[in-house]
Amino acid sequence: VSVKDLVQASIDRIEEVDHNIHAFLTINEEKALKEADILDEANDAEKGLLYGLPVGLKDNIITAGTKTTSGSQMLKDYSPAFDATVVTRLTNAGAITIGKCNMDEFAMGSSNENSSFFPTKNPWDTKRVAGGSSGGPAAAVAAKEVFFALGSDTGGSVRQPSAFCGVVGLKPTYGLVSRFGLVAFASSLDQIGPITKSVEDNAYVLQAIAGHDNMDTTSAKIAVPNYLSSLQGDIRGLKIAVPKEFLGEGVDEGVRQRIHEALATLEKLGATWEEVSMPHVSYAVAAYYILSSAEASANLARYDGIRYGRRSPHATTLEEAYKFSRSEGFGDEVKRRIMLGTYALSAGHYENYYEKAQKVRTLIKEDFENILTTYDVIIGPTAPTTAFKLGEKTKDPLTMYANDLLTIPVNLAGNPAISIPCGFSEGLPVGMQMIGKPFAETTLYKVAHVYE
Ligand code: GLN
Repeated sequence: VSVKDLVQASIDRIEEVDHNIHAFLTINEEKALKEADILDEANDAEKGLLYGLPVGLKDNIITAGTKTTSGSQMLKDYSPAFDATVVTRLTNAGAITIGKCNMDEFAMGSSNENSSFFPTKNPWDTKRVAGGSSGGPAAAVAAKEVFFALGSDTGGSVRQPSAFCGVVGLKPTYGLVSRFGLVAFASSLDQIGPITKSVEDNAYVLQAIAGHDNMDTTSAKIAVPNYLSSLQGDIRGLKIAVPKEFLGEGVDEGVRQRIHEALATLEKLGATWEEVSMPHVSYAVAAYYILSSAEASANLARYDGIRYGRRSPHATTLEEAYKFSRSEGFGDEVKRRIMLGTYALSAGHYENYYEKAQKVRTLIKEDFENILTTYDVIIGPTAPTTAFKLGEKTKDPLTMYANDLLTIPVNLAGNPAISIPCGFSEGLPVGMQMIGKPFAETTLYKVAHVYE
């Protein structure tokens, strides 16, 4: 097949199914077909690792000349002048951006219902959520609209929608993938990660996007390992830790069963597992919402109605330009986080909230370090439930927040984690999460590939 055929097949598939799924906000048909023509002329030496593969990008990943809304009315008409580093790297590897995928506004949410445009539906059951905040990218891959997608993960936003949609999602170690050109939510937690159909595909995509970038000061200066060669080998002697807190109260019976079955399979393949305790993870959700909201309140200060993004047509003074642009441009969840974050950082409250949350973050990081000196990987479910019904959790933000209790600790610690499909519960996909040592994506891929 030619690249043009691949691109056309992706566009046709989107036309066929996306009116039911709503994974896409923008489709790049003309530009993608043009790029395909050019790639079809390439000689073998010029063909990159992802040659000709159609990709969908979460709409907080900046694309030159293509709208990047971050799921918000604030950036509804924002067409950036540059590409994110990951986009440049994908293009260099030969991938073709088919379009931009739906997401919760500014990546704040777990169900895609906070998108200011429309919610993405779960391809397995369209009455259910695709997960969030990278629900669009995960649904697009699950519905075979694109070969792979990129999402971002601040507290689980790559892994949880991947679990809900039955695909593979990786949150790389903090600093492995450049954040340059990612619309900032909480900069000390945000990472871009690949969402794919298989573990092997995931390793290919990470290979193309990982590695140091001068444009991101938090980018790690490490030599990128060969992820593709980590897809070989066996897991005899592998030591797995299963935190009892990950299979405790609130985890559905069906999810728990699938994880135990997966552990039995891994045992048959030569691994051993033991129950451990991570005493501080129960404080992770509380600490995360203080820290991520504090960072968000600072990051989102740039949307002032002056520099870029929405400017209210009703404003007559500078003060009104700030006030009206932000009132009209941000949705309820974003406003909630800005208020929470501003409060947590304010004089008189800082010590009680922000500083305390930072201390909790350190304790959680130490929990991971301690366990991962004895064990190679930590395993548990990605989410306590399978995909829930649209509207089920929208009335109470706290129940929505609680859905992330298994993914959030990993962002606070910075470690890599992958979610892979491990069977079904009542017809819906269950995701298994594997957490590794910093920069040990190779171990995660090895284990996930053997299991798969
Ligand atoms: N659901 C979490 C939140 O709303 C995580 C989101 C994310 O990872 N971007 O903050």
